[in-house]
Amino acid sequence: MSLALTRDELIRTHNLIDGQWTDAADGARFPVANPATGERIAEVANSGAADARAATDAAARAFPAWRDKLPRERAELLRRWHALIVANTDDLAKLMSMEQGKPLAESRGEVAYGASYVAWFADEATRIYGDLIPQQQRGKRMSAVKEPLGVVAAITPWNFPLAMIARKIAPALAAGCTVVAKPAEDTPLTALALAALAQEAGLPKGVLNMLSASREQGIAAVADWLADARVRKITFTGSTPVGKHLARESAGTLKKLSLELGGNAPFIVFDDADLDAAVTGLMASKFRNGGQTCVCPNRVYVQAAVYERFADLLATRVAALKVAPATDPDAQIGPMINTRAIDKIARHVEDAVAHGAKVLTGGKRLTELGPNYYAPTVLTGARDDMIVCCEETFGPVAPLFRFTDEAEALRLANDTPFGLAAYFYTQDIARIDRVASGLEAGVIGINEGAVSSEAAPFGGVKESGYGREGSKYGLDDYLSIKYLCQGGFDR
Ligand code: NAD
Repeated sequence: MSLALTRDELIRTHNLIDGQWTDAADGARFPVANPATGERIAEVANSGAADARAATDAAARAFPAWRDKLPRERAELLRRWHALIVANTDDLAKLMSMEQGKPLAESRGEVAYGASYVAWFADEATRIYGDLIPQQQRGKRMSAVKEPLGVVAAITPWNFPLAMIARKIAPALAAGCTVVAKPAEDTPLTALALAALAQEAGLPKGVLNMLSASREQGIAAVADWLADARVRKITFTGSTPVGKHLARESAGTLKKLSLELGGNAPFIVFDDADLDAAVTGLMASKFRNGGQTCVCPNRVYVQAAVYERFADLLATRVAALKVAPATDPDAQIGPMINTRAIDKIARHVEDAVAHGAKVLTGGKRLTELGPNYYAPTVLTGARDDMIVCCEETFGPVAPLFRFTDEAEALRLANDTPFGLAAYFYTQDIARIDRVASGLEAGVIGINEGAVSSEAAPFGGVKESGYGREGSKYGLDDYLSIKYLCQGGFDR
């Protein structure tokens, strides 16, 4: 796969600051690699603190005029942006597969998914209601109105290079905020193409600013945003340690935060479940994007009576998955993002095996395909003293744990500092109620493995973070409530 697109102008390797595509202040660049081969596909601006400052300057200048636009004017621009994203699906998908490695069909799906947030928040922009508060005292009228926060900094991970950044930028712009954004160092090209389409849609200069940076330089750029009082909010998707760092470092200027962090999702199969449906649900939730999703089941708990049958059914389906580069139209699992990721997966599986787990299928690197491939894996005999139980593997590995009753399943599922997603399969309606309310997670799949939707609130509890993306609640993270108390009324 080469970088030749239908529209080559979507390959952007500069920062978008104040409506201009610019080099980093010191002219530095860093390489972006194709994870399927390790080959360099582009060099992009390696931005630091000076570029971050320039982006904030532009966003702060653009804020008053953007805030004062009519909501339907902002909605109209978001709709135009949405139409351009959809019209350029093939190019965006190609860019994404090239830098992230996911199969082309999945990349197309992600373009549609990311675009759906833009369409959703275009509509929501016109529904930012306040309240007239019932009169409590004679002579006073009280009301509450919602206002945009100001400049928002968006920082995103590499696993969904388009959807994660779209679902932050769209609500921020809909609310009337302006944005400075930094995509992950592994996948800046998709995000920069998205910014180019926003510019093409007619977004005024400075309303959306985006810069690329290597990990080291990115830390310096974000540090500038953390210290700058003009940045009123940080919206972050990524790992829990980095989320905690952002929370600590933004305390000096008391910014509002939305943190969509790591997970360690349990997937529980009760003995009264429809086992075929449970296997299908697990295939969808565990192996999408090669297992590199924050809502991926990381621990699969299967009740003792159905354990062996479930394991056999699952292993048969997993062994049939086609592992191949994104260019192969039949690919179902692509390469992992980089060597660090593949080393982590191998370490988790080796540790599990050393502690007594059995490999039903997979369990090895596929070096014949390239540097970053790992065979989809099913492990039986998983236990809580294995690393797979407490750390996110972020790869195509399904460890099966055995449990005996509902109380034990709930205890094990909740025995983690994380609380993003949880799944369970049962046909007992009374149990559905009990388990759904007992699970400590922000997103619950009940007899369902595919839970994401722009219409639903997405986010975690515990150390998976706070804030919600998507749905009618998603705009609130970008708004503050102002209380107006007007005196001098006769009544
Ligand atoms: P990461 O936390 O390493 O990086 C995320 C972003 O933060 C990147 O842009 C990175 O450059 C930046 N960053 C890293 N260190 C930083 C620092 N010290 N200061 C400022 N910025 C910094 O995460 P990742 O490896 O890119 O992504 C994987 C993680 O993201 C997983 O834990 C996964 O569960 C999580 N994730 C969560 C969600 C969700 O919605 N909850 C979605 C996708 C991924």
